[in-house]
Amino acid sequence: MAEVTVVGGGVVGLTCALELARAGHEVRCVRDQPVAETVSAVAGGLWFPYHVEPRDRVVAWGAVALTRFADLASDPASGVMMREGLLVERGSADRWWTTSVPSWREASAAELPPGATGGVVATVPLVTMPVFLPWLEAQCVDAAVEFEQAHVSSLDDLEGDVVVVAAGLRSGALVDDDAGMPSRGQVALLENPGLTRWLIDDDHPDGLLYVLPHPGWVVCGGTDVSGSWDTEPDPQVHAAIVQRVRDAVPALAAARVIGPRVGLRPVAPEVSLTASDVGGRTVVTNHGHGGAGVTLSWGCAEEVVRLVEEAVRVSPSRPAVDPRAGS
Ligand SMILES: Cc1cc2nc3c(=O)[nH]c(=O)nc-3n(C[C@H](O)[C@H](O)[C@H](O)COP(=O)(O)OP(=O)(O)OC[C@H]3O[C@@H](n4cnc5c(N)ncnc54)[C@H](O)[C@@H]3O)c2cc1C
Repeated sequence: MAEVTVVGGGVVGLTCALELARAGHEVRCVRDQPVAETVSAVAGGLWFPYHVEPRDRVVAWGAVALTRFADLASDPASGVMMREGLLVERGSADRWWTTSVPSWREASAAELPPGATGGVVATVPLVTMPVFLPWLEAQCVDAAVEFEQAHVSSLDDLEGDVVVVAAGLRSGALVDDDAGMPSRGQVALLENPGLTRWLIDDDHPDGLLYVLPHPGWVVCGGTDVSGSWDTEPDPQVHAAIVQRVRDAVPALAAARVIGPRVGLRPVAPEVSLTASDVGGRTVVTNHGHGGAGVTLSWGCAEEVVRLVEEAVRVSPSRPAVDPRAGS
């Protein structure tokens, strides 16, 4: 058993903390924001590897997470559902992501919007983040994860045999890695008139378009603006998203608009998931998940547990207890 400090309490940090605690480690999770204020709380919650690399590892992590979410879908309290939907293709059909998906088929011509060249109909997890994140926190508490609300300026200030850096966009500052950058995502929430199928049409001529129907509301997108740190909703962008999704999905024409939301995707050339020795202690990184932090969460958490256990095996920081001692 190791003492592990996880920095970050979004979907990535919480899944790591939970998996480590369930594996028998003593886990503390330090975060400086309530979970409802994280980027994770803005996520549309669809299992889909959007704006993330490298593909070979993404496919493997995504497959693990898909299976875990599919199991959770039998528990309504988790906020996870399995939902069928359509990915529209315009031009080349880049279907690398389907490697992780057990249930998908070619879309029929009747299912495609004007201008589409093809499409994939798939059944994947759709995670209602305002339900899932508190559920995940509660699971952590049940697994004896200790929470601390604090800002971490330096990893040197933290206790533990191992530190896991899962601090989203701000991870780089803690591990001296400047490869990450934000990609601003603005979405519009509309009341759900009864939709259940999701839709992604990311090469739509009017701009990125997606419709993710949750119980009660629909997350409608969106934007993906690299390098922008602006977290204020833009009213013009909001109006354009609402118009775009209403044109694409007529059932939304009369749906009440709840309002805009903005989050900064933690984009990097590649997800950083490595273990290294920093001043005699193992630091495991788990950041740079771009538009796929939910999609990869459980898969990356499983790998974090493996890295932590390898590190502890290689250099046990505490003396092993000799069962004969004192006899
Ligand atoms: C509009 C939008 C839609 C999206 N839709 C999807 C989707 O449908 N599917 C999907 O898979 N992904 C989606 N994403 C991407 C997803 O939201 C992110 O990849 C994911 O939330 C990243 O999670 P995280 O836990 O790494 O970071 P965050 O959620 O940002 O959490 C970071 C945590 O680290 C803590 N922290 C940071 N720095 C410090 C510090 N110095 N000290 C202490 N604590 C610190 C914060 O308090 C917080 O708890 C979307 C993103 C956006 C913006």
